[in-house]
Parts: sequence; C-alpha cells; structure tokens
Amino acid sequence: MSVLHKFLFEGMPVRGMLVRLTDDWQEVLRRRAAANSPYPAPVRALLGEMAAAGVLMQANIQFNGALILQMHGDGPVRLAVAEVQSDLAFRVTANVVGDVAHDARLEAMLNVHGKGRCAITLDAKRAGQQPYQGVVSLHGDRREPLQALSDVLEHYMLQSEQLDTRLVLAADDQVAAGLLIQRLPVQGAGNLEGRSREEDIGRSEDYRRIAMLAGTLTRDELLTLDPDALLRRLFWEEPMVRYAPLAGPEGPRFACSCSRERVGAMLKGLGREEVDDILREQGRVEIGCEFCGRRYEFDPVDVGELFTPARDQPPGSSALN
Ligand SMILES: [Zn+2]
Repeated sequence: MSVLHKFLFEGMPVRGMLVRLTDDWQEVLRRRAAANSPYPAPVRALLGEMAAAGVLMQANIQFNGALILQMHGDGPVRLAVAEVQSDLAFRVTANVVGDVAHDARLEAMLNVHGKGRCAITLDAKRAGQQPYQGVVSLHGDRREPLQALSDVLEHYMLQSEQLDTRLVLAADDQVAAGLLIQRLPVQGAGNLEGRSREEDIGRSEDYRRIAMLAGTLTRDELLTLDPDALLRRLFWEEPMVRYAPLAGPEGPRFACSCSRERVGAMLKGLGREEVDDILREQGRVEIGCEFCGRRYEFDPVDVGELFTPARDQPPGSSALN
C-alpha cells in the first residue's frame, strides 16, 4: 500500500519524510495504458518522481489546497503535471509531442533549447485567494542544464523557502518513491536561550551529516527497500523519532477530481456553436480526462440540456447527473 513516513532527528533541527507509492502508482499507469498509448519509460519515471516529490512537498508545508508541480518543456515533452491535494490525493499527466529516447533525462525531454521551466503553484481552496506560483529554470548556478528533478526542486526550495533540502527520488513501473531531508529554521527563541554561534554551527553540522547520509541512498535501494529497513540502513546511528505512518484514506493515494459536471462546464465555455460543430461531425461529444482516462460522452440531447438555462428545464431533469 502507498505510505508516507515522517520523522524527526532528536535534538537536531532536521526533519525528514519518506514516501512510497505502489498500487496507486501502478493504477495510474494502468489507466493511462488502457485509455491512450502508454507514456515512454523516461516520462513514466519523471511523472512517478513528480508524484512522489509533490506528496513530499504538500505534506511538508501542509497547504490547504492543491500543490501543482508543472514542468514546461521545449523538447519532446511539452508538459508534465503532478497535482497533490491537501489530503494527499494525487494525479499526474503529461503531454508528449515527440520521440523520447529510452535513456532521456531532463535536458533531452524538457530542456533541449534551454527554455524548460518548473513551476510550483499553490492553489488555495478558499475562494478569492490568489494562487501563489514560483518558477525555476532547469539550470544550476553555473547555467549547467540539470538532469535530475531532485536537483531542480532542491534549488526551488532553497530559493522559495530559504530552507536547505535534500531530495532523493526514483520511480519505475512498480514504485514511485522519495526521501526528503530538511533543515528546520532555527527559531528566534533559540537566540533568547543564549545559544552561542558555535552551537548553531554544530546544528548545521547535524544537517550536513544527515543530508550526506541521505545522499548515499541509491535509486535501487529507494525503490526496493521497505521503509524501516531503508531508514535503519541510512540513519542507524542517529536518534530518530518516528510518527505513525500515513496510509489508506489518510495517506498518499491516486484520486482524480474530474466529473461530468466539470466537463459540462468546460463544454459550455466552448460555446454552443463549437459544440454543435462537433455534434454535426461526430454525432456526439466525447471527452477523455487527461489525468485518469475516464471518458465522458454527451449526445445531442445532453448537449441540448447543457445549453438550456436551468429554469427552462422540466422539473426533475438534469443533464449533469
Ligand atoms: Zn479524471
């Protein structure tokens, strides 16, 4: 089952999280393969890493709304999206327009002409609140193209939250997983306690050591080790406080928020003329959800009801149920 583990290092300003998406991740790929052509393997791996990273980032900030991770590309991958709600429900999709080599990494997929971008949007649930968006390029400090999503996101978190973060991500067709280690900001209260500069430096050392241990985690270990074994192997010498793992309805899981109502609203947005054109050509309107592959069909009667103001409809009828 998909699960999220949270932990703290006792007496040190360092926290961590480990996520493993398993059956939910396989379900995402299975639906995609059933509804469309499957994504190329490097795109599947990228989307898996994005889902794992999105869950870690959402759980880290506990934002009341959707966290949307978007990679805008100038190569064969035009767009890759992972969306994670505050209850850790996630969904992903990608738009692939060209051939992706079997060993393609970020640059070859999204940053061929150096114009690739990664955008992180926080879309609040509360109506009227403006979404927040942060954007980073897919380049490092020396303008070198970055090849791993974890490098891009570490960069983003340092810029946006001013927090040192170490991320390790990996995904294959069975598992999408991620480890996040973050240095907690040293509270103002610490200064009042009269902590010396030496102590603060000591605390930085704690973070560096733990981040370095996290950096020794291989892709294979992240994908195959069970969480207890993984944390023991990496941090057996560190005093760790673990929280109850989040799984099931409280944990990360695949869920799509699409509905017939939303698709209907989108068709209304297109306008009657446009929708009638599709009806004339195809006899009905069929829309597939990009995220979950579900298909929504509107025949001429459905479309007629869609464009009839509610007050003109006979009581008890509804096109949208
Ligand atoms: Zn859907």
